[in-house]
Amino acid sequence: MTASIIERDQDTGATSTRYHYTRVVEIAGRIVRARLERGVYLNHSGAVAEMLTDQTGLGQPRRRRPQQLVVRHPPSVDIDAAAVLGPLAERLLHRAAEILAAPPPTVTLSPHLYRAVSALLATSSGYKAECRIDPNDITWATDNGGTLHIFEHPDGGVTFTKAHRDECPFLADKGGQDCDDECYFDLPSRI
Ligand SMILES: [Zn+2]
Repeated sequence: MTASIIERDQDTGATSTRYHYTRVVEIAGRIVRARLERGVYLNHSGAVAEMLTDQTGLGQPRRRRPQQLVVRHPPSVDIDAAAVLGPLAERLLHRAAEILAAPPPTVTLSPHLYRAVSALLATSSGYKAECRIDPNDITWATDNGGTLHIFEHPDGGVTFTKAHRDECPFLADKGGQDCDDECYFDLPSRI
């Protein structure tokens, strides 16, 4: 299932040392911006899809999935940045639409998992801990880091993790395979 993509804005430009293409769309009521830039050097290039949240506004977007951009066409003032980078922006935005359209999983807590949540609270905040989670905390946690995954192990242990991107082999094999060390998330700011 993919949410529809509604066009909002786009920007393009080229100089002798760099060219860029930015597309702003609305997906499932959220403003998402794809920014792609190709510079003379690889470390001047990049592609990122950002979701602009109520908390951060347009000026300080929250980044999603930064990745290196490998495009063969070197910078030139004559280049049609929209034609070269447009297909990549399209791919990024479709991936964002898939993520935003995915319904949250329905989770039923088994008695063992309920006790594991108790242990998570007790070991992180003390055995008499009490913690109220506000809606803003939930939004912040949803927008930053990975999706929450919970793995129950045969020995009774439970792993709670937000440390991995969705494609990581650690998640695909429910902790059986190691992380491929390509999971990283920008350090978010707390508003
Ligand atoms: Zn990982």
